[in-house]
Amino acid sequence: MIVEDVGIEDAEGAPALAATIRSQRGAFEPFRARYIVPDGDPGWLAPTADPFVVALLLACDAIGEELRVEGPVSPALLAAVPTIVEIVRTWVPTRFDWRDAWKGSGEPVKVVAAEERAEQTRASGTGLFFSLGVDSFHALLTDAGGPPTASHLVFADGFDLLPADRIVFRQAVRAVRDVAAATGTAPVVVRPNIRPFVERMVPWGITWGSWLASAGLALGGLLSRVRIAASLPYAHLVPAGSHPLLDPLWSTEATAIQHVGAASGRAEKLLDVVARSELAVGHLRVCFRGPPKGLYNCGECPKCLSTMVGLRAAGAPEPWPTFPRPLRAVDVLRRRSGPTGMEVLMRSAPLLRARGQHALAAAAWLVALRRWFAPRVRSLTRKMVRR
Ligand SMILES: [Zn+2]
Repeated sequence: MIVEDVGIEDAEGAPALAATIRSQRGAFEPFRARYIVPDGDPGWLAPTADPFVVALLLACDAIGEELRVEGPVSPALLAAVPTIVEIVRTWVPTRFDWRDAWKGSGEPVKVVAAEERAEQTRASGTGLFFSLGVDSFHALLTDAGGPPTASHLVFADGFDLLPADRIVFRQAVRAVRDVAAATGTAPVVVRPNIRPFVERMVPWGITWGSWLASAGLALGGLLSRVRIAASLPYAHLVPAGSHPLLDPLWSTEATAIQHVGAASGRAEKLLDVVARSELAVGHLRVCFRGPPKGLYNCGECPKCLSTMVGLRAAGAPEPWPTFPRPLRAVDVLRRRSGPTGMEVLMRSAPLLRARGQHALAAAAWLVALRRWFAPRVRSLTRKMVRR
Protein backbone atom coordinates (compact mmCIF):
# COMPACT_ATOMS: atom_id res chain seq x y z
CA MET A 1 0.00 0.00 0.00
CA ILE A 2 1.23 3.50 -0.76
CA VAL A 3 0.22 6.60 1.25
CA GLU A 4 0.82 9.82 -0.70
CA ASP A 5 -0.35 13.44 -1.14
CA VAL A 6 -0.73 13.96 2.61
CA GLY A 7 -2.15 17.37 3.40
CA ILE A 8 -4.92 19.46 4.91
CA GLU A 9 -7.80 20.24 2.57
CA ASP A 10 -11.43 21.27 2.54
CA ALA A 11 -13.99 18.42 2.55
CA GLU A 12 -17.76 18.81 2.91
CA GLY A 13 -17.10 22.46 3.85
CA ALA A 14 -14.88 21.46 6.78
CA PRO A 15 -11.12 21.03 7.26
CA ALA A 16 -9.73 17.53 6.78
CA LEU A 17 -6.39 15.76 7.02
CA ALA A 18 -6.25 13.69 3.85
CA ALA A 19 -4.03 11.25 1.95
CA THR A 20 -4.39 9.09 -1.12
CA ILE A 21 -4.03 5.33 -0.59
CA ARG A 22 -2.93 3.18 -3.54
CA SER A 23 -2.13 -0.50 -3.90
CA GLN A 24 1.28 -1.53 -5.35
CA ARG A 25 -0.43 -4.56 -6.83
CA GLY A 26 -3.50 -2.77 -8.12
CA ALA A 27 -5.62 -4.65 -5.58
CA PHE A 28 -8.03 -1.69 -5.21
CA GLU A 29 -8.88 1.67 -6.76
CA PRO A 30 -6.98 4.67 -5.27
CA PHE A 31 -8.85 5.99 -2.25
CA ARG A 32 -8.77 9.46 -0.65
CA ALA A 33 -8.73 8.87 3.13
CA ARG A 34 -9.89 11.81 5.23
CA TYR A 35 -10.17 12.83 8.87
CA ILE A 36 -12.81 15.56 8.71
CA VAL A 37 -13.46 17.90 11.65
CA PRO A 38 -16.95 19.41 11.14
CA ASP A 39 -17.09 22.84 12.85
CA GLY A 40 -13.33 22.51 13.35
CA ASP A 41 -10.26 24.61 12.63
CA PRO A 42 -7.51 23.55 10.18
CA GLY A 43 -5.01 24.25 12.99
CA TRP A 44 -6.46 21.32 14.96
CA LEU A 45 -5.04 18.89 12.39
CA ALA A 46 -1.41 17.73 12.25
CA PRO A 47 -0.12 17.45 8.64
CA THR A 48 1.70 14.12 9.13
CA ALA A 49 1.24 10.65 7.70
CA ASP A 50 1.17 9.06 11.19
CA PRO A 51 -2.65 8.58 11.37
CA PHE A 52 -2.63 6.72 8.04
CA VAL A 53 0.20 4.43 9.19
CA VAL A 54 -1.78 3.60 12.35
CA ALA A 55 -5.06 3.04 10.49
CA LEU A 56 -3.54 0.88 7.72
CA LEU A 57 -0.78 -1.10 9.45
CA LEU A 58 -2.83 -4.16 10.46
CA ALA A 59 -4.61 -4.27 7.09
CA CYS A 60 -1.21 -4.30 5.31
CA ASP A 61 0.04 -7.09 7.59
CA ALA A 62 -3.13 -9.08 6.94
CA ILE A 63 -2.94 -8.84 3.14
CA GLY A 64 0.86 -9.06 2.94
CA GLU A 65 1.61 -5.67 1.37
CA GLU A 66 4.36 -3.38 2.61
CA LEU A 67 3.30 0.10 3.71
CA ARG A 68 5.20 2.79 1.78
CA VAL A 69 4.66 6.33 3.02
CA GLU A 70 5.43 9.42 0.93
CA GLY A 71 5.44 11.82 3.86
CA PRO A 72 6.82 12.36 7.36
CA VAL A 73 6.35 9.55 9.91
CA SER A 74 7.18 9.58 13.62
CA PRO A 75 10.38 7.65 14.53
CA ALA A 76 8.72 6.49 17.78
CA LEU A 77 5.78 5.03 15.86
CA LEU A 78 8.09 3.30 13.35
CA ALA A 79 10.10 1.84 16.26
CA ALA A 80 6.90 0.38 17.78
CA VAL A 81 5.73 -1.37 14.59
CA PRO A 82 7.54 -4.72 15.18
CA THR A 83 6.07 -4.99 18.71
CA ILE A 84 2.56 -4.10 17.51
CA VAL A 85 2.72 -6.75 14.79
CA GLU A 86 4.20 -9.31 17.18
CA ILE A 87 1.38 -8.80 19.70
CA VAL A 88 -1.43 -8.92 17.13
CA ARG A 89 0.01 -11.98 15.39
CA THR A 90 -0.03 -13.91 18.69
CA TRP A 91 -3.73 -13.03 19.03
CA VAL A 92 -4.82 -13.92 15.50
CA PRO A 93 -4.83 -17.74 15.96
CA THR A 94 -7.22 -17.42 18.90
CA ARG A 95 -10.01 -15.82 16.85
CA PHE A 96 -11.58 -17.48 13.77
CA ASP A 97 -12.68 -14.24 12.12
CA TRP A 98 -9.19 -12.76 12.51
CA ARG A 99 -7.42 -15.94 11.39
CA ASP A 100 -9.51 -16.00 8.22
CA ALA A 101 -8.50 -12.39 7.49
CA TRP A 102 -4.71 -12.88 7.64
CA LYS A 103 -3.68 -13.93 4.15
CA GLY A 104 -0.24 -12.28 4.18
CA SER A 105 3.11 -13.72 3.16
CA GLY A 106 4.10 -14.73 6.66
CA GLU A 107 6.70 -11.95 6.83
CA PRO A 108 5.75 -9.15 9.25
CA VAL A 109 4.66 -5.96 7.47
CA LYS A 110 7.45 -3.54 6.55
CA VAL A 111 6.86 0.21 6.81
CA VAL A 112 9.03 2.31 4.48
CA ALA A 113 8.83 6.05 5.20
CA ALA A 114 10.19 8.72 2.85
CA GLU A 115 11.03 10.80 5.89
CA GLU A 116 11.35 10.09 9.62
CA ARG A 117 10.43 13.20 11.53
CA ALA A 118 9.24 13.84 15.05
CA GLU A 119 6.75 16.71 15.30
CA GLN A 120 8.48 19.54 17.14
CA THR A 121 5.41 21.38 18.39
CA ARG A 122 3.33 19.90 21.18
CA ALA A 123 -0.31 20.89 21.51
CA SER A 124 -1.66 21.68 24.96
CA GLY A 125 -4.94 19.72 24.96
CA THR A 126 -5.83 16.36 26.54
CA GLY A 127 -8.60 14.55 24.70
CA LEU A 128 -10.89 11.77 25.88
CA PHE A 129 -12.80 9.75 23.27
CA PHE A 130 -16.35 10.23 24.43
CA SER A 131 -19.18 8.11 23.05
CA LEU A 132 -21.54 8.92 25.99
CA GLY A 133 -21.38 5.29 27.17
CA VAL A 134 -20.57 3.80 30.58
CA ASP A 135 -16.81 3.50 29.93
CA SER A 136 -16.30 7.05 28.67
CA PHE A 137 -18.55 8.63 31.35
CA HIS A 138 -16.65 6.68 34.02
CA ALA A 139 -13.31 7.90 32.60
CA LEU A 140 -14.58 11.50 32.56
CA LEU A 141 -16.12 11.46 36.04
CA THR A 142 -13.13 9.74 37.71
CA ASP A 143 -10.51 11.68 35.72
CA ALA A 144 -9.02 8.34 34.60
CA GLY A 145 -5.49 8.77 33.26
CA GLY A 146 -5.18 12.21 34.86
CA PRO A 147 -3.58 14.48 35.71
CA PRO A 148 -3.96 16.46 33.60
CA THR A 149 -7.74 16.44 33.51
CA ALA A 150 -9.25 15.98 30.04
CA SER A 151 -9.76 19.32 28.29
CA HIS A 152 -11.56 18.01 25.17
CA LEU A 153 -14.33 15.42 24.66
CA VAL A 154 -13.77 13.80 21.26
CA PHE A 155 -16.78 12.24 19.54
CA ALA A 156 -15.58 9.92 16.77
CA ASP A 157 -18.30 9.72 14.12
CA GLY A 158 -18.35 6.29 12.48
CA PHE A 159 -17.35 4.37 15.62
CA ASP A 160 -20.80 3.05 16.52
CA LEU A 161 -22.96 5.45 14.49
CA LEU A 162 -22.87 4.67 10.80
CA PRO A 163 -23.68 7.11 7.95
CA ALA A 164 -27.37 6.06 8.08
CA ASP A 165 -27.71 6.88 11.79
CA ARG A 166 -27.94 10.68 11.38
CA ILE A 167 -30.91 11.22 13.73
CA VAL A 168 -29.00 9.75 16.65
CA PHE A 169 -25.78 11.42 15.47
CA ARG A 170 -27.38 14.86 15.89
CA GLN A 171 -28.79 13.90 19.32
CA ALA A 172 -25.39 12.53 20.39
CA VAL A 173 -23.51 15.66 19.30
CA ARG A 174 -25.99 17.81 21.25
CA ALA A 175 -25.45 15.55 24.28
CA VAL A 176 -21.64 15.77 23.98
CA ARG A 177 -21.94 19.58 23.84
CA ASP A 178 -24.16 19.58 26.97
CA VAL A 179 -21.74 17.37 28.88
CA ALA A 180 -18.77 19.46 27.73
CA ALA A 181 -20.50 22.67 28.88
CA ALA A 182 -21.28 21.09 32.27
CA THR A 183 -17.71 19.85 32.80
CA GLY A 184 -15.72 22.80 31.47
CA THR A 185 -14.37 20.82 28.53
CA ALA A 186 -14.55 21.51 24.79
CA PRO A 187 -16.43 19.23 22.36
CA VAL A 188 -14.67 17.99 19.21
CA VAL A 189 -16.23 15.91 16.44
CA VAL A 190 -13.93 13.98 14.10
CA ARG A 191 -15.19 11.97 11.12
CA PRO A 192 -12.69 9.51 9.60
CA ASN A 193 -13.87 7.91 6.34
CA ILE A 194 -11.31 5.08 6.39
CA ARG A 195 -13.29 2.42 8.30
CA PRO A 196 -15.16 0.73 5.40
CA PHE A 197 -11.92 0.68 3.37
CA VAL A 198 -9.94 -1.04 6.15
CA GLU A 199 -12.84 -3.38 7.03
CA ARG A 200 -12.69 -4.89 3.55
CA MET A 201 -9.30 -6.34 4.54
CA VAL A 202 -9.34 -6.94 8.29
CA PRO A 203 -12.16 -7.22 10.88
CA TRP A 204 -13.30 -4.26 12.97
CA GLY A 205 -12.80 -6.36 16.14
CA ILE A 206 -9.01 -6.02 15.80
CA THR A 207 -8.84 -2.55 14.20
CA TRP A 208 -11.22 -0.34 16.20
CA GLY A 209 -8.51 0.73 18.67
CA SER A 210 -6.10 1.70 15.91
CA TRP A 211 -8.96 3.54 14.16
CA LEU A 212 -9.55 5.61 17.33
CA ALA A 213 -5.81 6.14 17.87
CA SER A 214 -5.41 7.33 14.27
CA ALA A 215 -8.23 9.86 14.74
CA GLY A 216 -6.48 11.05 17.92
CA LEU A 217 -3.18 11.53 16.07
CA ALA A 218 -4.97 13.42 13.29
CA LEU A 219 -5.98 15.97 15.98
CA GLY A 220 -2.29 16.51 16.79
CA GLY A 221 -2.60 20.29 16.34
CA LEU A 222 -5.01 20.36 19.29
CA LEU A 223 -4.15 17.40 21.55
CA SER A 224 -0.89 16.06 22.98
CA ARG A 225 -2.64 13.27 24.91
CA VAL A 226 -5.59 11.22 23.76
CA ARG A 227 -7.35 8.75 26.07
CA ILE A 228 -9.31 5.66 25.12
CA ALA A 229 -11.61 4.41 27.89
CA ALA A 230 -11.14 0.69 28.57
CA SER A 231 -13.99 -1.71 27.78
CA LEU A 232 -12.59 -4.56 29.88
CA PRO A 233 -10.83 -4.55 33.26
CA TYR A 234 -7.23 -5.77 33.67
CA ALA A 235 -8.56 -8.91 35.40
CA HIS A 236 -10.54 -10.05 32.34
CA LEU A 237 -8.52 -8.96 29.31
CA VAL A 238 -8.97 -10.71 25.98
CA PRO A 239 -7.43 -9.94 22.55
CA ALA A 240 -9.26 -6.88 21.21
CA GLY A 241 -8.79 -3.86 18.96
CA SER A 242 -8.27 -1.57 21.94
CA HIS A 243 -6.07 -3.09 24.64
CA PRO A 244 -3.71 -1.74 27.31
CA LEU A 245 -0.75 -3.49 25.65
CA LEU A 246 -1.53 -2.11 22.21
CA ASP A 247 -2.99 1.40 22.55
CA PRO A 248 0.13 3.18 23.94
CA LEU A 249 2.24 1.74 21.11
CA TRP A 250 0.37 3.96 18.62
CA SER A 251 1.84 7.05 20.35
CA THR A 252 4.18 9.51 18.61
CA GLU A 253 6.65 12.04 20.04
CA ALA A 254 3.88 14.67 19.80
CA THR A 255 0.78 12.73 20.90
CA ALA A 256 0.49 10.06 23.59
CA ILE A 257 -2.30 7.49 23.24
CA GLN A 258 -3.47 6.28 26.67
CA HIS A 259 -5.71 3.34 27.59
CA VAL A 260 -7.48 4.41 30.80
CA GLY A 261 -9.98 3.12 33.36
CA ALA A 262 -9.08 -0.60 33.17
CA ALA A 263 -8.82 -0.93 36.95
CA SER A 264 -12.64 -1.14 37.13
CA GLY A 265 -15.15 -3.56 35.60
CA ARG A 266 -18.46 -2.54 34.04
CA ALA A 267 -20.53 -3.22 37.15
CA GLU A 268 -18.31 -1.04 39.29
CA LYS A 269 -18.24 1.74 36.67
CA LEU A 270 -22.01 1.73 36.26
CA LEU A 271 -23.24 1.22 39.82
CA ASP A 272 -20.60 3.15 41.76
CA VAL A 273 -19.93 6.07 39.42
CA VAL A 274 -22.21 6.54 36.40
CA ALA A 275 -25.55 5.80 38.14
CA ARG A 276 -24.68 8.38 40.84
CA SER A 277 -24.18 11.19 38.36
CA GLU A 278 -27.26 13.11 37.24
CA LEU A 279 -25.26 14.41 34.26
CA ALA A 280 -24.31 10.88 33.17
CA VAL A 281 -27.78 9.36 33.66
CA GLY A 282 -29.27 12.30 31.77
CA HIS A 283 -27.11 11.65 28.65
CA LEU A 284 -26.14 7.96 28.87
CA ARG A 285 -26.01 6.15 25.49
CA VAL A 286 -25.19 2.43 25.45
CA CYS A 287 -27.18 0.93 22.58
CA PHE A 288 -26.10 -0.46 19.19
CA ARG A 289 -29.60 -1.61 18.14
CA GLY A 290 -31.45 1.69 18.55
CA PRO A 291 -29.55 4.04 16.19
CA PRO A 292 -30.65 2.39 12.90
CA LYS A 293 -34.26 2.94 14.09
CA GLY A 294 -33.51 6.54 15.08
CA LEU A 295 -33.46 5.66 18.80
CA TYR A 296 -30.77 6.95 21.16
CA ASN A 297 -31.23 3.76 23.25
CA CYS A 298 -33.75 1.07 22.27
CA GLY A 299 -34.54 0.07 25.87
CA GLU A 300 -35.05 -3.60 24.93
CA CYS A 301 -31.67 -5.08 23.85
CA PRO A 302 -29.52 -6.97 26.40
CA LYS A 303 -27.12 -4.01 26.73
CA CYS A 304 -29.91 -1.50 27.41
CA LEU A 305 -31.64 -3.89 29.84
CA SER A 306 -28.54 -4.75 31.89
CA THR A 307 -27.71 -1.03 32.09
CA MET A 308 -31.25 -0.23 33.29
CA VAL A 309 -31.02 -3.03 35.88
CA GLY A 310 -27.78 -1.49 37.14
CA LEU A 311 -29.35 1.98 37.32
CA ARG A 312 -32.34 0.61 39.30
CA ALA A 313 -30.04 -1.37 41.64
CA ALA A 314 -27.93 1.74 42.31
CA GLY A 315 -31.08 3.79 43.01
CA ALA A 316 -30.67 6.27 40.11
CA PRO A 317 -33.80 8.49 40.19
CA GLU A 318 -36.41 7.55 37.54
CA PRO A 319 -37.51 8.06 34.84
CA TRP A 320 -34.12 7.84 33.11
CA PRO A 321 -34.45 10.31 30.24
CA THR A 322 -32.43 8.42 27.61
CA PHE A 323 -34.34 5.11 27.88
CA PRO A 324 -37.67 5.11 26.05
CA ARG A 325 -39.54 2.56 28.19
CA PRO A 326 -39.76 1.56 31.84
CA LEU A 327 -37.80 -1.44 33.10
CA ARG A 328 -39.82 -4.67 33.56
CA ALA A 329 -38.59 -7.98 34.99
CA VAL A 330 -40.31 -9.90 32.20
CA ASP A 331 -38.26 -8.06 29.53
CA VAL A 332 -35.02 -8.85 31.37
CA LEU A 333 -35.98 -12.51 31.64
CA ARG A 334 -36.60 -12.81 27.90
CA ARG A 335 -33.09 -11.68 26.89
CA ARG A 336 -29.69 -13.30 26.93
CA SER A 337 -26.78 -11.49 28.50
CA GLY A 338 -23.21 -10.87 27.35
CA PRO A 339 -20.25 -11.34 29.74
CA THR A 340 -20.13 -7.70 30.88
CA GLY A 341 -23.93 -7.64 31.21
CA MET A 342 -23.72 -10.76 33.39
CA GLU A 343 -21.31 -8.95 35.72
CA VAL A 344 -23.79 -6.06 36.07
CA LEU A 345 -26.75 -8.42 36.68
CA MET A 346 -24.91 -10.45 39.33
CA ARG A 347 -23.79 -7.33 41.18
CA SER A 348 -27.30 -5.82 40.92
CA ALA A 349 -29.38 -8.81 42.09
CA PRO A 350 -28.66 -8.59 45.87
CA LEU A 351 -29.04 -4.78 45.79
CA LEU A 352 -32.43 -5.13 44.08
CA ARG A 353 -33.57 -7.67 46.66
CA ALA A 354 -32.54 -5.29 49.43
CA ARG A 355 -34.69 -2.62 47.73
CA GLY A 356 -37.70 -4.98 47.72
CA GLN A 357 -37.47 -5.49 43.93
CA HIS A 358 -37.84 -9.26 44.20
CA ALA A 359 -39.12 -10.03 40.68
CA LEU A 360 -36.35 -7.99 39.04
CA ALA A 361 -33.71 -9.49 41.38
CA ALA A 362 -34.87 -13.02 40.45
CA ALA A 363 -34.84 -12.17 36.72
CA ALA A 364 -31.31 -10.74 37.00
CA TRP A 365 -30.09 -13.88 38.77
CA LEU A 366 -31.73 -16.23 36.29
CA VAL A 367 -30.34 -14.47 33.22
CA ALA A 368 -26.85 -14.28 34.78
CA LEU A 369 -26.95 -17.96 35.73
CA ARG A 370 -28.17 -18.93 32.27
CA ARG A 371 -25.21 -17.04 30.81
CA TRP A 372 -22.82 -18.74 33.25
CA PHE A 373 -24.15 -22.26 32.65
CA ALA A 374 -24.75 -22.18 28.90
CA PRO A 375 -21.09 -22.46 27.72
CA ARG A 376 -20.35 -25.06 30.41
CA VAL A 377 -23.32 -27.20 29.40
CA ARG A 378 -22.30 -26.87 25.71
CA SER A 379 -18.72 -27.92 26.51
CA LEU A 380 -19.92 -30.90 28.61
CA THR A 381 -22.33 -31.97 25.85
CA ARG A 382 -19.53 -31.81 23.25
CA LYS A 383 -17.29 -33.99 25.45
CA MET A 384 -20.09 -36.57 25.94
CA VAL A 385 -20.86 -36.67 22.22
CA ARG A 386 -17.15 -37.27 21.42
CA ARG A 387 -17.13 -40.26 23.78
ZN1 LIG B 1 -30.64 -1.11 23.16
